Amino acid sequence: MIRVADVVPTTTAEGPGRRYAIWVQGCTIRCDGCFNPHMWSKTGGALRSVGELLARIEAVDVEGITLLGGEPFEQGHALSVLGEAVQRRGLSVMTFTGYDYDHLTGRDAPDEAQALLGATDLLVTGPYVAESPDLVRPWVGSTNQEFHFLTERYGHLQEHLVDLRDRVEVRVAPDGAVAVNGWAGVAQLDDLLEDLGRPVGRGRVR
Ligand code: SF4
Repeated sequence: MIRVADVVPTTTAEGPGRRYAIWVQGCTIRCDGCFNPHMWSKTGGALRSVGELLARIEAVDVEGITLLGGEPFEQGHALSVLGEAVQRRGLSVMTFTGYDYDHLTGRDAPDEAQALLGATDLLVTGPYVAESPDLVRPWVGSTNQEFHFLTERYGHLQEHLVDLRDRVEVRVAPDGAVAVNGWAGVAQLDDLLEDLGRPVGRGRVR
């Protein structure tokens, strides 16, 4: 089972191409300035089985999934099972983690870190550092964060990351609730949310 905080079934703001994005619930890293502190608790969100998520992923037209959070490597086993199943279907896996790569491959790595690394094509490592926003590379929040091309799947992007644009997606529900995902600078985001003129859920923003 996977403790899930939120999903966006189709997004072009959370990695290459169209993706099914899964925000997992629970994170012990607790970066200053984290946009998702409501995803820190290990008791929030909802439990979803790998089979249920897989069926939902197969029902939409995407090239892969993106795992963010929350901290995916604190649910490494279940997410590695999901990632392997997704890859067997020809889809890709992108994973964001607040841990550094050396930590994930060292002796104090979280349980099943190797399994999730093995089920990930494109990895972004490192905590969010609010004082060092990254406004150049796509998808990442701060300049300390590193891309790792763990398979050939996205190797062609390695030299062209800065040519890719960041995106912010705004969704308006029938009840008027507004949700935002993707990445933008804090000032840009505040301008956008102020212009919308209504309560906005910022929970999906990295
Ligand atoms: S930015 Fe990510 S790693 Fe850092 S506290 Fe928030 S959810 Fe955890």
